[in-house]
Amino acid sequence: MGRLYLIQLDGRIYSCRHCRSHLAQCDELVSKSFHCRHGKAYLFNTVVNVSVGPLEDRMMTTGKHAVADIFCNSCQQVVGWKYVLLLKHTSISSPVLIKPQ
Ligand SMILES: [Zn+2]
Repeated sequence: MGRLYLIQLDGRIYSCRHCRSHLAQCDELVSKSFHCRHGKAYLFNTVVNVSVGPLEDRMMTTGKHAVADIFCNSCQQVVGWKYVLLLKHTSISSPVLIKPQ
């Protein structure tokens, strides 16, 4: 195990609901109109201090999507998921956090 390195964000931020690690700046918020089985969820442009789990096809309220769970680097709890759009030479992903604080 390497030393835990967490990025500290400036300004207004959203943090992990479990351990308060910084996850995203308010400026990166795209949409609050997401829902999951845990309740409300927010879509962001970019998030920090997370690691991404394996990609899988999952049935969401909007249909079947390629998604990967994202985990807090500090407490290892699931904090959301990423939608992943696979293209021929690249992939586009959009992180969604489960109701961050
Ligand atoms: Zn955490």
